[in-house]
Amino acid sequence: FSGRVYEGLLSVISEAEEVAAGGDVTLKEFASILKSGFGALEISLIPPKADAVFVGDLYATANTGSNVVFAARLTDGVPSASADTALLTDREISALEKAGVDISPKIRQVNMRNREQVALNICAFKKRLYLTYPVRCGGEECGASEIISYASAAFAAKDGGALKPVSAARIKNEATELPYCCSERLPALKKLTADLSPRYAAAIYSVLKDGGYEKQAAAAISPPAERKIEDGKNLFVTFNSISPTALETYFTCPYRNFMQQGLKLQEREEGAMRPLDAGNFIHAVLQTVAPEIGAIKDDVLLRARVREIAEDLLKAPAYSALTDSKSGQYTAAALISEAVDVSAGMYEQLKNSNFKVESCELKCEIKLDGAIKINGRIDRVDGCGDMVRIIDYKTGNVDASATHYYMGLKLQLPLYLSAAAAGRRAVGAYYFPATVEYKSKADGVFRLQGFMDGSEEVVLNSDTTVEEKKKSAYFDAYRSGKKIDSAMDGETFADFLKYSELVARGGTREMLGGNIEPSPAADACKFCKMGGSCGFAVGADGEERAHRTVKCSEIADIVKRNGGLK
Ligand code: SF4
Repeated sequence: FSGRVYEGLLSVISEAEEVAAGGDVTLKEFASILKSGFGALEISLIPPKADAVFVGDLYATANTGSNVVFAARLTDGVPSASADTALLTDREISALEKAGVDISPKIRQVNMRNREQVALNICAFKKRLYLTYPVRCGGEECGASEIISYASAAFAAKDGGALKPVSAARIKNEATELPYCCSERLPALKKLTADLSPRYAAAIYSVLKDGGYEKQAAAAISPPAERKIEDGKNLFVTFNSISPTALETYFTCPYRNFMQQGLKLQEREEGAMRPLDAGNFIHAVLQTVAPEIGAIKDDVLLRARVREIAEDLLKAPAYSALTDSKSGQYTAAALISEAVDVSAGMYEQLKNSNFKVESCELKCEIKLDGAIKINGRIDRVDGCGDMVRIIDYKTGNVDASATHYYMGLKLQLPLYLSAAAAGRRAVGAYYFPATVEYKSKADGVFRLQGFMDGSEEVVLNSDTTVEEKKKSAYFDAYRSGKKIDSAMDGETFADFLKYSELVARGGTREMLGGNIEPSPAADACKFCKMGGSCGFAVGADGEERAHRTVKCSEIADIVKRNGGLK
């Protein structure tokens, strides 16, 4: 500031000199010129934030307000969250607190502070906010930060509709970057290797040709080599057996299957209880109580027995640490109560049916081509005369759509039922939703979801309480009433089941042939943990395989047209 004052004084003096130059000016007049010059002099500092660009780190900067905020590289790693894998986990620190030892901060607190700092910096914009994320980082695919989802939900376009992100696909479709691509040889060649529409590819090709690069352009559009491994059998088959999960993962994406089932990549286990553990707990309780159900007289006794089983199970090493903390004890109580309610639902379904539990955790085997077979374990097999049905306990999302079955994404139930029937009449393959759901409108009692022979005999034996023309409370079928796609007539259901073997054979052949191409089914890439390694970016490298809505009867028709299992 002093420097600016000094410069100002000098400039007023030199201007006064110029004004007085050549004239006969008295001392009084010169003093008056100087005085008016100093009076007009203004010195001010430009506020540091006006007309300036600041570049900072989302976590380390404290932005108190800017007209425009650009937040770049918002990948799924932003805001960053440290894993609870330090020498002392948060749970252990909580346990030490009880012994009077305070250690801080916990990972949870560090992560919350990070999130808060990022949120404050992003929300510091006054006029505009630009959020961007790369499709790839260092050659690896990366997802978008949750900040992008929050912003999409919080803001709307000017017309009130949803925001339209400027995505790679949009740039491609609108060809807005073509002039840039065609300005230089390298970006043009790079663009040609992308999945362009024929019109744009032809335009870039002709620009390159005119520039004398036809040979390179022709090489750029030749199809890339297929990703294959030499010996799929050695990688995917153990003791001549493959798992249904491997097949389903293969149909979800061959590359993901290669990483998960071939190279056996797994998530690192953490100290805290994960949702999977809670699911395993309920599953274990159901497996223990199911064989005893036939001998239990009523719901009260059943509930008492399940509570006993659940409390015993909580003492097992896998769950015993849960009760170390207050929050863990709360979780344990909630788990027991959920296990009791779920088991009571299963009990009611069995009590009101002529089906009896025949076996639990039954090993099964389905022979495919050559000596290869699929091996699995069925949670529960119920029988009634010559009729057989199987039940799979599901604590996560239940997905029993014909479309997913058609695409090979859900093969387990039909494959297992075919194996379990072993010459008897296969009549139902169901998921039992082993979680208590809180819905505004109740729908049956732990309604089984899956596929079945919907003939009256099967419906009545599966639910002895269902009334004429009414829908069962335990599964999706009517008693001699409305037709439901997943409840087929006996013959159609038999063909429907055979489809699983047809698809399993085709998938096994491809898998053992070594196909590991990234070829994702619809939505497969969204939460895929292998996204960093496959190098496949939806939109830039190709599209996911779209779901085609099919009916169960259409699936059965495929088998008929194929002449059964030939
Ligand atoms: S991100 Fe998509 S393409 Fe890549 S492995 Fe996962 S499912 Fe396959």
